[in-house]
Amino acid sequence: MENGSSRNVLKPMDSEQLREYGHRMVDFIADYYKTIENFPVLSQVQPGYLHNLLPDSAPDHPETLEQVLDDVKAKILPGVTHWQSPSFFAYYPSNSSVAGFLGEMLSAGLGIVGFSWITSPAATELEMIVLDWLAKLLNLPEQFLSKGNGGGVIQGSASEALLVVLIAARDKFLRRFGKNSVEKLVVYSSDQTHSSLQKACQISGIHPENCRVLKTFSSTNYALPPELLQETISRDLEAGLIPFFLCANVGTTSSTAVDPLAALGKIAKRNEMWFHIDAAYAGSACICPEYRQYIDGVESADSFNMNAHKWFLTNFDCSLLWVKDKYALTEALSTNPEYLKNKASQANLVVDYKDWQIPLGRRFRSLKLWMVLRLYGSETLKSYIRNHIKLAKDFERLVSQDPNFEIVTPRIFSLVCFRIVPSKNDEKKCNNQNRNLLDAVNSSGKLFITHTALSGKIVLRCAIGAPLTEEKHVKEAWKVIQEEASYLLRKEKT
Ligand code: PLP
Repeated sequence: MENGSSRNVLKPMDSEQLREYGHRMVDFIADYYKTIENFPVLSQVQPGYLHNLLPDSAPDHPETLEQVLDDVKAKILPGVTHWQSPSFFAYYPSNSSVAGFLGEMLSAGLGIVGFSWITSPAATELEMIVLDWLAKLLNLPEQFLSKGNGGGVIQGSASEALLVVLIAARDKFLRRFGKNSVEKLVVYSSDQTHSSLQKACQISGIHPENCRVLKTFSSTNYALPPELLQETISRDLEAGLIPFFLCANVGTTSSTAVDPLAALGKIAKRNEMWFHIDAAYAGSACICPEYRQYIDGVESADSFNMNAHKWFLTNFDCSLLWVKDKYALTEALSTNPEYLKNKASQANLVVDYKDWQIPLGRRFRSLKLWMVLRLYGSETLKSYIRNHIKLAKDFERLVSQDPNFEIVTPRIFSLVCFRIVPSKNDEKKCNNQNRNLLDAVNSSGKLFITHTALSGKIVLRCAIGAPLTEEKHVKEAWKVIQEEASYLLRKEKT
């Protein structure tokens, strides 16, 4: 509460205060969205900047909302990188939307912790329904739906999704081969797989020596070669090891590479391995019939993951994981302490999502996905995705028309990988030029892009997919990149 007679009587859930402050906060955020283009996209502050601006200890007495919002404007926003800016082209997008925001707000307002069905039946049941809806939009195989042994669950991140399925697979194999066989379990992926697999292996006790990171090539657009996978598996089997987990990608982080799912699935099946598909970014595009082909082969997967918080207008965090065998997850992750026992769970009548994830507590995240699906509808969501892909095509065309630049890998979705072309085949110099261009572009504050390395080449990534991005922002971004590049190249010549 603000200063006054009620100073010492805290009323943390005063409806009228919420009404008043809530309106002001929504106004503040709406104004932020309206003026978001006035901020440098990438925050330009120096490390430690905030320590000099805020007091050393928390206030003893209440301050006003105005005071706090003034500080947000003056001290916090300069240290914010504006992920929702229409000129944010870095990493992959992390979409917000009015529907997602309202869902978050409702979830915060209800303030439930839905770890078991009994703790809020609607939270569990809505999650099951909404994940079934999305599975149908993606045309996932029936076994991923909640009516049988499978089902979907919302995790906080693709990394958590990967960790839980890796643990489920590990334990399935340990039950079969004995607990001492953990040292023999081998994981397979391509060298383009997200680092979350390495982290999941570190956490789940899979030794780095047992992680096969298979080399990919530019000639096959950085897709995992099935022949190499089979050869490696055969060699491991001969050595008495146990191949147990294959992670394939649909839309890698570096370049949106798509692995040949059908061929990989056959190999996984033949060798009785767990087959996981990471479609964290590109999964969203697969609700469009013309992009669904990129997950053909998902029929043979044991688990499939996409982040609704990337390119599906659902505010962070909302990572969707489907499994065919929910019991593999619950056998690995369930606990049943006395203090959580209840009739519905004991009678096995319900799903308790606490047994499908790492933490106990969980938020009512399905609300925001439900709001997104209902307030926009799947046809609008398809158009949304298609528009970003069209903008990416436009950007790709602009890049390819400039002789100073080249497209490095073919564009599939809405990521364009490009670079300044090397002069006289000097790759080292070319890498430095691209690094310098990246710094120059990002310190302009006018846009934010990031880089990766592919076959030793430093590559710039323009990931289109922020909710406010329009054609004019893409054109403006390209203009800034071209101007900075011309300046750099001219400076080098003099
Ligand atoms: N997989 C892919 C293909 C990604 O691009 C990313 C992040 O960008 C991840 C996994 C990790 O996502 P999260 O931050 O949800 O763990």
